[in-house]
Amino acid sequence: MGFLKDKVVVITGGASGIGRVSAKIFGAENANVIVWDLKTEKVSDEIHIYNVDVRNSDSVQEATRIAIEKFGQIDVLINNAGITQDASLLKMSDQQWRDVLDVNLTGVFNCTKSVAPHMIEEKFGRIINTSSVVGLYGNYGQTNYAASKAGVIGMTKVWARELAPKGITVNAVAPGFISTNMMKTIPKKILDTIIEKTPVGRLGIPEDVANVYLFLASEKASFINGAVISVDGGYVG
Ligand code: NAP
Repeated sequence: MGFLKDKVVVITGGASGIGRVSAKIFGAENANVIVWDLKTEKVSDEIHIYNVDVRNSDSVQEATRIAIEKFGQIDVLINNAGITQDASLLKMSDQQWRDVLDVNLTGVFNCTKSVAPHMIEEKFGRIINTSSVVGLYGNYGQTNYAASKAGVIGMTKVWARELAPKGITVNAVAPGFISTNMMKTIPKKILDTIIEKTPVGRLGIPEDVANVYLFLASEKASFINGAVISVDGGYVG
């Protein structure tokens, strides 16, 4: 316990799913946890939750200002907020394309651009971006989501080069299929196929991903930079 004692950790999309479990796990390690989400439903007494829309750079900058005012620094940024709006290519509307890119790609850009200057000042930081197996292998009906999650890998690789000389590591996690609200719309037949294609033989749970966030945020991961870590039970699309 106390792995991240007194570190200040911002988790976007931390009001539900993987982010919510991560907030609790980081809290248990005595980190000061700040959640930025559209929802402000309480996660636990110790977790500071703010209404922040990652698509909006003003909203993100104001939340950064509040975090710095309260805690003096941000040590870890987990760009975890993400959405899906699925449709096959010919049926995908311009709006669906834009909505997903706005949250999953522009949101990651906004948060990192806002927080990085404070990490640079401290000469320390850990940035963890949430990609997906879909960003690595593609998936039927997810042109927008695959583009956003492949884009997250691209940004991770750029920032790993730009920021590591300033004491900041930047890595991506690529979860496979994890049981959260995001999976609720997937029909059982498709879930069974996904499990068949997963050598570990099950869907992931939020803890599977949260524990990798925790490791990447820790001192033990200080020589990992620009990596994309799959957390997918060995899924092969
Ligand atoms: P989730 O349960 O839907 O949680 C995502 C959270 O992000 C929600 O609380 C959501 O709020 C919030 N959010 C959405 N738009 C936002 C915005 N503009 N600003 C701030 N917060 C926003 O999803 P999850 O399954 O935990 O996914 C977490 C991350 O893992 C995502 O990046 C996702 O793409 C990635 N991932 C998930 C899986 C999976 O199988 N679950 C697989 C691979 C990658 P609302 O609920 O109000 O929209």
